Amino acid sequence: CDPLLSYQEHRLQTHGIHTLLAQFTDVFGVPKGKYVPVTQLRTLLHQGVGFSGASVSGTGLPRSGPRAELYARGDIDGIQLMPWQPGYARVVCSGYVAGEAFDACPRQTLQRAEAALAARGWTLKTGIEPEFFLLKHQAGRWQAADAADQLDKPSYDLKSLPRQADFLHALRSALESWGLDVLQIDHEDAPGQYEVNFAFDQALRSADHLLGFKLAAHALAEARGMVCSWMPKPFADQPGSGQHFHVSLWAPAPQGFGSVNLFEPADGEDDAGTGLSALGRQFVAGVLAHSAALCALAAPTVNSYKRLAAGASRSGTSWAPATAHHGPNNRTCTVRTLPGRFEWRLPDASANPYLVTAGLIAAGLDGIDRQLDPGPACTADLYTQPDLHAPPLPASLGEALAALAQDDVVQRALGATLSAEFLRLKRAEWQEFQHHVSDWERARYAAAF
Ligand code: GLU
Ligand code: MG
Ligand code: MG
Repeated sequence: CDPLLSYQEHRLQTHGIHTLLAQFTDVFGVPKGKYVPVTQLRTLLHQGVGFSGASVSGTGLPRSGPRAELYARGDIDGIQLMPWQPGYARVVCSGYVAGEAFDACPRQTLQRAEAALAARGWTLKTGIEPEFFLLKHQAGRWQAADAADQLDKPSYDLKSLPRQADFLHALRSALESWGLDVLQIDHEDAPGQYEVNFAFDQALRSADHLLGFKLAAHALAEARGMVCSWMPKPFADQPGSGQHFHVSLWAPAPQGFGSVNLFEPADGEDDAGTGLSALGRQFVAGVLAHSAALCALAAPTVNSYKRLAAGASRSGTSWAPATAHHGPNNRTCTVRTLPGRFEWRLPDASANPYLVTAGLIAAGLDGIDRQLDPGPACTADLYTQPDLHAPPLPASLGEALAALAQDDVVQRALGATLSAEFLRLKRAEWQEFQHHVSDWERARYAAAF
């Protein structure tokens, strides 16, 4: 008899759960799944439930034969109630094929990256900061769902925040039902844009929670006649939606009690103006050195590069990075260093959290293995002052994909199948965009010559 299983069964029964959502994600980070009667819990946890592998983007699985079936096998620590859908609980799953962990499953990819850290006795912790828009599609136009939310500079606005209090509170209640500490909820810098922060955790858990967050936010918005959008830059003249990662690296305390943050400088250690230990600075250097390839994972859409272009906002500052550099509490840098941790500002709201974290770990470990130096800390405003140590980030998805294709470290983290599938699908997306003739082009050129 497994006490954890009995506990979960009891918990599900107590909450009147009749249906489980067996949920995994495709290569794009889009949640996929099936409803499974709660009576199937043990099968879901031990064998998993089957899906046609070829129907899931990025698996590269054949349409027939022994490797045609993709199994989503539940994680017993990843069972969460879905308060917006009473009677239902989500079970976070990893992919298996022919009884083996499936290498091209995004969650397995992160689990492999975590295992590489664990082999050194380390655990990565991340705090992911979701920014998103609440929109409506009306009269052929996308706009803030709250029509009155039209301020020029709505950061922390207290007139529009209360108008979404019902949605935001329902979202908060869902997160709290999973035991998450919700930290802060605010109006972001664009009309219709919000941010909800919750406490940092082990990297895999944070990614699982972000997916749950998105499921909840989608359903709660839809029930209120709105669309919750994770598009990186929905409006040309407004800031985009980031998905910043606060990153720290932990090891068991030498005394065997609790754990220590390896990015915290030792007493009296020179932190080179960063707030980070030597190990932390090497990790940051690795992340910066692999920025171009990481962009393919952190900013994975055509639209992502409109967010990363400096200064593309009505109020002048978009707060998204345009160059690969680091600086103490410097929000114009890709890496904003803080005491004992850093904020990685590159990822946007469309990034698959499993893949982006796997890439982050590989890049950081490469920085440690090669003892890289991140260069001098930058205190300047990188939007207005050029800095020799700050190479520009890729200007397009096409450039980021070319960088990924050259980067063995990041590709190895993804594994051969996933990396080939990711490049194939994303190159097709980039090519489709390049061939598209837009309204802007017709307006500019149709009658111009
Ligand atoms: N929305 C900004 C971005 O796209 C970040 C704003 C902030 O610093 O919270 O990264
Ligand atoms: Mg923010
Ligand atoms: Mg942030």
